[in-house]
Amino acid sequence: MKVYVNGNISEEDKAVIPVFDRVFLYGDGIFETMRSYNGVIFRLSDHLDRLYSAMKSLKIRQSLSSKETEKAIYELLRVNGLKDASVRVTVSRGASKDRAFNISQNEAASLVITAIKFLPRPPGYYTKGIKADIARSRKNSRSLSTNFKVPSYLDSIIARNEAIPKGSFETIFLNEAEHVCEGSVSNIFMVNGNRLMTPSLDCGVLPGITRKAVLELAPYAALGIQEGKFTESELKDSDEVFVTNSLIEIIPVVNIDSRRIGNGSVGPVTRKMRSLYGRAVEKETAS
Ligand code: PLP
Repeated sequence: MKVYVNGNISEEDKAVIPVFDRVFLYGDGIFETMRSYNGVIFRLSDHLDRLYSAMKSLKIRQSLSSKETEKAIYELLRVNGLKDASVRVTVSRGASKDRAFNISQNEAASLVITAIKFLPRPPGYYTKGIKADIARSRKNSRSLSTNFKVPSYLDSIIARNEAIPKGSFETIFLNEAEHVCEGSVSNIFMVNGNRLMTPSLDCGVLPGITRKAVLELAPYAALGIQEGKFTESELKDSDEVFVTNSLIEIIPVVNIDSRRIGNGSVGPVTRKMRSLYGRAVEKETAS
C-alpha cells in the first residue's frame, strides 16, 4: 500500500517520519478519518473544514491548502487503485528540536495520508444491532482538546478493550457531570417518540461529520431535534439508540450494560435514518 508523507508517495514500509515528531511524542496534532464510496469521499469539504479550523485554533501551520490536501487524497486513492476506502489524514505540528515540549513556532507541520480498502462491518451489526456498555472512565468536557479530533485516544482504547470481551462493540463515555457524552469512536443518538436527542457539543463531544448529516436529515423523518444534557438513565430508557461515525455510518444499539433498549431490536426510526443516510451518500457520491 502506498502512503503520502509531506508531498511524497511511497510504499508504506519506505515512508519515514522523524522520531521527534510531536504526534509521536505527545499526540500534538490533528487527524481526520473519512470514507470513500466508489472513489468519492462523502462530505469531504466538511472533513477538510474541521481539519483546517482545528489547525487554525491549535496554531499548526500547514503549508498545503485545503484544495491541495484534497488533490493529494484523491491522488493517493488513484495510485492505490482504491474506490471504497477508509482514508486518514494526519497533521502533526512537526518535529521538535531536541525533543522540546514547548512549541517553538519553527516546527514545519507534517502531513501524512493513508488509504486502506474499506472493510464493511458484519451485516448483523446493522440488522440486529450491537451491544454497548458504559465506560468506567469519564470524558472531561472542559478539556481544551475535547472538540478536536486529536490523535491521543488512549482512554478510548483502554475503555474499548474492556468492552470487547463483554461482547460490546462500542463503549459509551459519560462526562465528569455524569452526562452522556459519546462513544469511543462515535457520536450517540437517542430516540423517544418522534424526538431525536443527542448530547450537545458542550458535553465534550466531537462535532462529528456524521452527527451533522444525521441532524440535517432528521426533519425528513419528521423528527424534532433536541441537543442537550442527558443522564445514563435517560439513555437506557430511550426507545432507540444509535451511534454514528464516518466509517460505520449509523449502527443501532439494542443493549447497554446488559439492559435491552426499547424492545431489543432495531427500531423504525433508526431504520429510517439509515435509509435517509444511504440515499444522501448515493446522491452525493454518484460520479
Ligand atoms: N466521536 C469520536 C470520539 C470519534 O472518534 C468519532 C470518529 O472517529 C466520532 C465521534 C464521529 O465523527 P465523524 O462522524 O466525523 O466520523
